[in-house]
Amino acid sequence: MFFVFGFGKQTIKTRWAEEVRTCPRCGNTKRWPYKKITYWFTLFFIPILPYQVKYVTVCPICGYFETIDQAAFEAASEASDESEQPVIVPPRTGMTEVQRRFNQEMATYEKQNNDNVDQ
Ligand SMILES: [Zn+2]
Repeated sequence: MFFVFGFGKQTIKTRWAEEVRTCPRCGNTKRWPYKKITYWFTLFFIPILPYQVKYVTVCPICGYFETIDQAAFEAASEASDESEQPVIVPPRTGMTEVQRRFNQEMATYEKQNNDNVDQ
């Protein structure tokens, strides 16, 4: 019997601000999406328990973002609400934390061995 568990799975809920904003980085003036990012503990790749929630607003042009509070997110237009969509997880998070640590240790171990051979 074994369990496949992991951290770091994200779901994102997006709402759109009513008003436009000028980005301090790229200078474009647009409506910015408000995003609620939820991080999940997963068991067999199924989200079980949220352990962190972040609220941000993101420049749709350059990706510059600022954190916002929950109230600002909740106040954004319900009509533009979208269902939570799974995010494409970067390949390295496809491994569990234990696998990742094991691979790191093996890489370190092999490097040490190679260093010893050189001497
Ligand atoms: Zn920008």
